[in-house]
Amino acid sequence: MEKAEKVKDKEKEQLCKRCKQSFTSSSNTSSACRFHPSFFVCRRHDDQKRYYELGPDDPLYAAKFYDCCGAEHPEAPGCTTSFHISYDD
Ligand SMILES: [Zn+2]
Ligand SMILES: [Zn+2]
Repeated sequence: MEKAEKVKDKEKEQLCKRCKQSFTSSSNTSSACRFHPSFFVCRRHDDQKRYYELGPDDPLYAAKFYDCCGAEHPEAPGCTTSFHISYDD
């Protein structure tokens, strides 16, 4: 840790534990952090109704998705927003 005594706590840049982006307290709003509350998994959708299930010709990777929202790309923007979480909390 570098010394940051001269910097007001509010302006201090912090790193979000969740999305790994830096933020300051003043920029930390309830929609500042975009993330998936669940993991990127590789399997069929639980109920096999909500999105799709693999057809006989579908490649296996088509079964990868975020467990929370069903987004099928690892870089898909988060489906949930909240405050950033600092390592100090
Ligand atoms: Zn999601
Ligand atoms: Zn964040």
